Amino acid sequence: MKIICIGRNYRDHAKELGNAIPDEPVFFLKPTTACLYPGQLIRLKPQLGEIHHELELVVMVDSYASNVPKAMALGLIASFTLGLDLTARDVQNELKAKGLPWEKAKAFDGSAVLGEVELPMTAGTNLQGFDIQLKRNGAVVQHGNTSEMLFSVADIISHVSHYITLEPGDLIFTGTPAGVGPITHGDLLEGFLNGNCVLRANVE
Ligand code: MG
Repeated sequence: MKIICIGRNYRDHAKELGNAIPDEPVFFLKPTTACLYPGQLIRLKPQLGEIHHELELVVMVDSYASNVPKAMALGLIASFTLGLDLTARDVQNELKAKGLPWEKAKAFDGSAVLGEVELPMTAGTNLQGFDIQLKRNGAVVQHGNTSEMLFSVADIISHVSHYITLEPGDLIFTGTPAGVGPITHGDLLEGFLNGNCVLRANVE
């Protein structure tokens, strides 16, 4: 099992960080040790500096697959939820400025926060029509709709599978809308999908 993350998949978010709009999906990986399961606390570490929340639709794949045509891609998804792609933003900016890989800023322990409600993928599910919202201590800090993705979930699965074989249990974080920002000690983070709370995490 692995965690695949898509960067810069919403125009307004790419712009807020001063990044170019990509012409194909930008992806990177997190190790399984990055998973933070429901009920576990987010722990801030001094060596990582400021940590930003990035609320994302997360889909789980349930088969081995490579070179997947776009038309077949959604059939690989078993379930979906919301997640937080926690990012050490100062560290990431330093790495980006030096042209170095992002892992130190993206792949650290606990950086892939998973929602507590896993929703089954059904024939009627439209992954590109979800209203997603993150509240920090009760105030809305991120709000978007998955219809605004630059690359749809089917585009992402097809593209990634031409480079990396997908395996059962793989998680794909599909990118974040605008509004990313810092978290701090004592914060309560709540993710809403079409108005239903599916992710809750406390920062120690
Ligand atoms: Mg992200």
